[in-house]
Amino acid sequence: ESLEDTLRGAIRTIPDYPKPGVLFRDITTLLGNARAFRDAIDALVRPHAVGTVDKIAGIEARGFILGGAVAHQLSAGFVPIRKKGKLPHETVRVAYSLEYGLDEMEMHRDGVKPGEKVILVDDLIATGGTAEAAVKLLRQIGADILAACFVIDLPDLGGRRRLEALGVPVRTLIGFE
Ligand code: 5GP
Repeated sequence: ESLEDTLRGAIRTIPDYPKPGVLFRDITTLLGNARAFRDAIDALVRPHAVGTVDKIAGIEARGFILGGAVAHQLSAGFVPIRKKGKLPHETVRVAYSLEYGLDEMEMHRDGVKPGEKVILVDDLIATGGTAEAAVKLLRQIGADILAACFVIDLPDLGGRRRLEALGVPVRTLIGFE
């Protein structure tokens, strides 16, 4: 079975969640499937040699699970990017727009040192708004972003182009129309 078939078969689609008309791609079934979880992490890690990445930045909350496993395999550190108000130490913050209104995300100011090589990880890229905000945060503190990696791409929503326009290489494992 190909990686694509394994992953596609392990992701559950929930209609009308979190609101009518939305098809939610649920990765908890992928995480619960040992083979699919391992294969997804292996595929995210594969282009990078151990020792060439300083930090994995994971976006709350599913990016923590995937990013933690990727960090372990690459012997890299892990840094969480969170909704505002969750981190205990001094932070940098960025505002970003949601469908309705604005939200803010933040990370610890000392979570990444200037010049460190970072890979951004999340489960899914749709419009790219969330990942773009994370890129801005990381660049505020001088990170060198090597790539942004996602298990799922929703290509119709344009997130990949949005990140590439910022000069960030994007890698995704499967797409859903
Ligand atoms: P974007 O900012 O690219 O429009 O949305 C991506 C963010 O929303 C990611 O943090 C992702 O976890 C979450 N997200 C949006 N739609 C889905 C979905 O269908 N499934 C999952 N698992 N996450 C989603």
